Amino acid sequence: MALTLVESLAMSFPFKRLSEIDVMGRRVLVRLDLNVPIRDGRIQDDTRIQAALPTLRALREQKARLVICAHLGRPKGTVKPEFSLAPVGERLAEVLDEPVLFPEDCVGDAALRLSRSMNDGQVMLLENLRFHPGEKANSTEFADRLRQLADVYVNDAFGSMHRAHASVDATPRLFGETAGGLLLEREINALQKVTRNPDHPFAVLLGGAKVSDKLPLLRDIVSRADAVLIGGAMAYTFLRAQGKPVGKSLVEDEQILKAGDILRRAANHGCEIVLPVDHIVVDEISNDSTTTTYRIEDTPEDGIGVDVGPRTLESIRGALQGKRTLFWNGPFGVYEIPQFSEGTVAIAKMVADAPGYTVIGGGDSAAAVRRAGLAPFLDHVSTGGGAALELLEGKDLPGIEALRVI
Ligand code: ADP
Ligand code: MG
Repeated sequence: MALTLVESLAMSFPFKRLSEIDVMGRRVLVRLDLNVPIRDGRIQDDTRIQAALPTLRALREQKARLVICAHLGRPKGTVKPEFSLAPVGERLAEVLDEPVLFPEDCVGDAALRLSRSMNDGQVMLLENLRFHPGEKANSTEFADRLRQLADVYVNDAFGSMHRAHASVDATPRLFGETAGGLLLEREINALQKVTRNPDHPFAVLLGGAKVSDKLPLLRDIVSRADAVLIGGAMAYTFLRAQGKPVGKSLVEDEQILKAGDILRRAANHGCEIVLPVDHIVVDEISNDSTTTTYRIEDTPEDGIGVDVGPRTLESIRGALQGKRTLFWNGPFGVYEIPQFSEGTVAIAKMVADAPGYTVIGGGDSAAAVRRAGLAPFLDHVSTGGGAALELLEGKDLPGIEALRVI
């Protein structure tokens, strides 16, 4: 059944958009995903900062006073200097070409006083929200302390939308006026082409290491996709379910039965499953280990599979032929080590060359694609792995529910 334009717009954005709220001269609490990789105090990849700029610029043009909040890493509810957002504040000041206020604590007197003395267009970044246990606990009390810092709430943290944490869930519920940012709009627009009525044939490539996290998604996806290609560490739990030898490759033993179930379910739904037929095997995972290519059946007892082999790449190439929608999550090998990254890079090229609609979601998969310089050849590289997967699974995201106006 075709939807009317109004219906489909209402479904796409159940929240107010930036252009629909009045921010002139008002303090806006902006929740962003600024969870960037930092090593020795230096930002390794500022994609997420860049992705937040359109919303920040739009709000500043409207003369809003920006109170930005975000989390970094997992400091577990206490102040840990190595998880400070200070380097992010410096980068923000650079890219906005504007000083950024940075109080020591995300809530409390100093932040409150600063928020009250800001000028139109001025920018403040709050310190890591996760320095307070109330953030992860979704505490209303903590949320209320954040609420005091602003008059309006905007969420543009797509990568954090699947977490019911205070700044994403409890806080917007305390504001009279809320909106979703421009990145949120862009992500939802792009991902809906995959999550709702994708053009068939539709193929999903799933790799990476988080087997137990990703199995629920696979269970659902085999009933909707025409082909599912499984690689990376993920594949070994499935190969074990088929009784194949995988040596000492990464397997989640408790998930083997579930993996078997998914294979049967796929067969019932006519979904083609493509698993590795060969792989690159080492004795230990290190930069200088010697690699040997084995068929899966011939995997030595002590061998660890670290990348897909050439025959597997050929079968993936074949399976991707003619597909009109592709979604990829999770690298197909230990891509962080250059000699084990060849499979992932080859697949990135296949996806980039594919004529269909191509989307990548996942921190590591997106990093692999960017590193290979292929991001511009994809239709969409999502800034959020978990959030993209949950959307694909058909789940409601807490962050979107908290903004819901219809
Ligand atoms: P994403 O962030 O894209 O969702 P994951 O976080 O699930 O992906 O998985 C990424 C990790 O999976 C990488 O650190 C990579 O080294 C690891 N990985 C991929 N293949 C293997 C393998 N064969 N053995 C061990 N780890 C692997
Ligand atoms: Mg990851």
